[in-house]
Amino acid sequence: MASRGTFTTRLGGVSVVPYAENNLGHHVGDDPHAVDANRAASVGAMHADRAVFMRQVHGSDVAFVDARTLGDIDGVDALVTDVPGVALGVLVADCVPVILQAQRAVGVAHAGRRGVRDGVVGRAVAALRQLDDGPLTAQVGPAICGACYEVPGPLQDEVAGAVPATRSTTSKGTTGLDLRAGVVAQLRAAGVLDIRHHLACTAEDPAYYSYRRDGVTGRFAGIVVLDP
Ligand SMILES: [Zn+2]
Repeated sequence: MASRGTFTTRLGGVSVVPYAENNLGHHVGDDPHAVDANRAASVGAMHADRAVFMRQVHGSDVAFVDARTLGDIDGVDALVTDVPGVALGVLVADCVPVILQAQRAVGVAHAGRRGVRDGVVGRAVAALRQLDDGPLTAQVGPAICGACYEVPGPLQDEVAGAVPATRSTTSKGTTGLDLRAGVVAQLRAAGVLDIRHHLACTAEDPAYYSYRRDGVTGRFAGIVVLDP
């Protein structure tokens, strides 16, 4: 069995300013009809029957999606499934979107500052391995980079105390966090060897939504679907 995973951009949808254009997030104040249309187009492009997104809470809980799961899932930050044709989506605007692909199962995870600190990626990998314990590929998507993501020293210490790879210095010479470096370290610690990197920085590249840069804005997505 094969699967397809992709990261959307903010280009090509029907949302208007400040959500223009391809906002996939329902929780940011955009017209729900525009979001539904954007989701339908983005998921349709993946040749999926339907999609399951999350109402994410910056936690580390994982939900198993089965053939009966409908709509968005509340209160989780990772999804896994072994059901073909059901797209899984993670919504982001600076946090790290992670796509996991094994032979017979797929997953997504939302890794922001708290998710990295609390190990959501490792928990998602463990959940995926309950469905398929073979080799897996991880795609680490566009996110704010360690040179842009400035945080106060105590916050840096809190996250880097748990995940040392996240410690960064920003382009201004101040304390920062490199969340993608943290995610990669966690994937390696979980035994994931095949890691694909999407190096765009959301705060620097206008093709992506960035909460840090824009405040009120949309969300792009990491989407993965297991082929029938
Ligand atoms: Zn950057």
